[in-house]
Amino acid sequence: MKGVVIKSTGSQYLVRNENGDIYNAKARGNIRLQGRKTTNPIAVGDKVEMVYGDESVWMISSIEPRENYLIRRSVNLSRQEHIIASNIDVIFVVATISYPRTSTGFIDRVLCTAEAYKIKPVLVFNKIDLYDEDDTAYLEALIQLYESLGYTSLKVSATEGKGLEELKKEMKGRTCLFTGHSGVGKSSLLNAIDSNMDLRVGKISQAHQKGTHTTTFAEMFELSFGGYIVDTPGIKEFGVIDLNKAEVSHYFPEMFARLAECKFNDCMHINEPGCAVRKAISEHQISQSRYNSYLGIFNSEDLLEDWEKD
Ligand code: GDP
Ligand code: ZN
Repeated sequence: MKGVVIKSTGSQYLVRNENGDIYNAKARGNIRLQGRKTTNPIAVGDKVEMVYGDESVWMISSIEPRENYLIRRSVNLSRQEHIIASNIDVIFVVATISYPRTSTGFIDRVLCTAEAYKIKPVLVFNKIDLYDEDDTAYLEALIQLYESLGYTSLKVSATEGKGLEELKKEMKGRTCLFTGHSGVGKSSLLNAIDSNMDLRVGKISQAHQKGTHTTTFAEMFELSFGGYIVDTPGIKEFGVIDLNKAEVSHYFPEMFARLAECKFNDCMHINEPGCAVRKAISEHQISQSRYNSYLGIFNSEDLLEDWEKD
């Protein structure tokens, strides 16, 4: 039987099959030996095959190759990885122009990370009901910038219910992850688009307060209008594994598009001669704020490790 892992506790899994029925399952021993050096061989979002085992329990016998996955690297020297979730279709970057102001540095870090993970990002600007004239003008400029780069950008208000149909349209039938600084309205948006979420979000935060384990596991919640939300409790940062300095600009589409015009094919667009990217910036073809974000990532010591610190 095929299914998707919707919850993991490390040794036990909840798997939802194609009919929507949910089963308890365990991992077959040999699965633990496969693949990379991870602390968890099976993650939320994994598409798995189950067999009914000798011990009268469902056993996960194989995992389909992952389209993408988010990982967290352990901080100790073992360099072990923990797969947070896999097969995510869309990452929603919730941002606000004020109350609080989300920096373009943060937005661009998430976009770069999403590109590296091969996950489609969608920008969601929330709290539009609070913006004055200056905020609104700045918002429009940002939307113009990000739309020109190919990123879908939505204007919403969780409290006034604005733009929620467009948001739902982007979420429908997909496995979605919400990110953004605390206070930008992630929980408010989820509650506003799906009243079923109310109880669940409450349940999650209660579980948080009780739990003192250091290991946290993601969980998938079904949306009433089709699709899933991946909740990653307690996880504030995603490290991009194996991303080296030379690669960073590949995840800025406007820079990657010009790399072939740079004099050196491994140009990092810092101070190399004949750099088409820096030329494009001086001609206002590439935004200075995007380049600043690029430099911020390029120069960060621990590349992308703390990009979601609140
Ligand atoms: P989270 O930390 O990202 O989950 O943010 P919350 O959903 O907890 O929201 C933080 C605060 O912002 C709460 O007081 C919300 O009521 C408020 N808030 C959320 N969305 C909106 C909005 O669209 N407009 C206004 N005016 N306030 C909002
Ligand atoms: Zn260059």
